[in-house]
Amino acid sequence: MKKENYFRKLQKLIWIDIGIFTVVYIIGTIILEIFNIPINSIWAWLILGGIPIFLVISVYTKLMKFPYECQSCQKVFNIKFRDMFTLHAGDSRRLKCPYCHKTTWAKIKID
Ligand SMILES: [Zn+2]
Repeated sequence: MKKENYFRKLQKLIWIDIGIFTVVYIIGTIILEIFNIPINSIWAWLILGGIPIFLVISVYTKLMKFPYECQSCQKVFNIKFRDMFTLHAGDSRRLKCPYCHKTTWAKIKID
């Protein structure tokens, strides 16, 4: 498979993750409502807390495969967990380079 297609597929999988998450989350809250489960019960925590954690882990394992290129020193690196929540637009992400320690709009590097 071509590298570009591989990353397209990964991106698509991330959107599928978010889609499944939204559906499961809504169903979860409906179940909580129907069975009248109190908000401080273990089931409520599993649904309201556990499902988002699954989403974050699932998205991160895909996101960490994308190589980002520093706009300052052109070195390529992978994102860390905390970088998931930084500003991003298209294939650019606000990242601190582990080599030159400058914060730039690093771009996904696919060649
Ligand atoms: Zn750099």
